[in-house]
Amino acid sequence: MNTSASLGASLYLLVPGGGLEPPTLSGHGPKPCASSNSATPARLLAKPFETKVSNSARLFIQLCYYTKYRLLLQFIIMKIKFLGTGAGWPLPRLGCQDKICSSKDPKDTRTRSQALVNEVLLLDLGPDTYQHLKQPGVDPTKIRFAAISHEHPDHTFGLWDLSHTYTSGRREKIKIFINPKTLAKIRFMFFPKEYDILPTLAGTEIKLDNLRLTFLPVNHTKDSTFGILVKEGNKKFFWAPDFKSLPAETTQRVKGADLAAIDGSELKIQTPSHETIEEGIALGKTLQAKNVYFVHIGHRSLPHKELESYVKKNGGDNFHIPYDGLEIEI
Ligand SMILES: [Zn+2]
Ligand SMILES: [Zn+2]
Ligand SMILES: [Zn+2]
Repeated sequence: MNTSASLGASLYLLVPGGGLEPPTLSGHGPKPCASSNSATPARLLAKPFETKVSNSARLFIQLCYYTKYRLLLQFIIMKIKFLGTGAGWPLPRLGCQDKICSSKDPKDTRTRSQALVNEVLLLDLGPDTYQHLKQPGVDPTKIRFAAISHEHPDHTFGLWDLSHTYTSGRREKIKIFINPKTLAKIRFMFFPKEYDILPTLAGTEIKLDNLRLTFLPVNHTKDSTFGILVKEGNKKFFWAPDFKSLPAETTQRVKGADLAAIDGSELKIQTPSHETIEEGIALGKTLQAKNVYFVHIGHRSLPHKELESYVKKNGGDNFHIPYDGLEIEI
């Protein structure tokens, strides 16, 4: 799981901020998605993303990709930081005295679920985004992309704060990937001109630098919630903090993921829009995911230590309970 091969490390250094997709010497721009909103994709076609990968590094990677050295690509490392791991309301809940909310273990303090990939891509933009990006070890000026799974406040209220991120000598707009149906529900929450908004259709793979990103439908809200599949080289990471179940096609596309971060809102209590950890253990096995991390954790559950033991006992060693600030490499 925690790949530390020196070869991998050196390849990673060659490609700051990411792994790789077969690159082109002219730099790689986004694959604009088909969209009902025609204005944004047209502008993006005219102005591809600038890449930070140097020409020599790109040439080296290109040579690897098209030659017998392609095997080296498996050593690419994707860095994932769990900025937040809680459900719609943070833990401890205000005024609550239950076992989790009165726990002294710092791992039982959970902010809203959010992840950072390779320091450049944010997954979801909940109300804790500002605090997440202010903590030591996180550089908000490196963030260039964000993808939003759905419209609920715990995944979108950070849009306001993130829009005013300042960089020295560069004021590049952050690119927001969001499905048109989701966007239609939250346009009022921010000034759209402060971002590059990229309406993103389900199933369409988007390239951003060395990462590839695909929105896949999940069953949570009506037609506007998605899991986000992020690929880099041969690595596959699925981010789906909110869902009751996965459609068959989504299950198929996620199969064999190196890491699946899935809904762990409840342990056993059934609700209409979230799966239980019990169900997630079965799902993780169906997905044949190499590692499953439960996020979006609520308080009708177990404290971190007990929950970690529970998933290992009932699922296996590849099931985990993350905590806020945990950083892993796949
Ligand atoms: Zn949520
Ligand atoms: Zn509680
Ligand atoms: Zn939700």
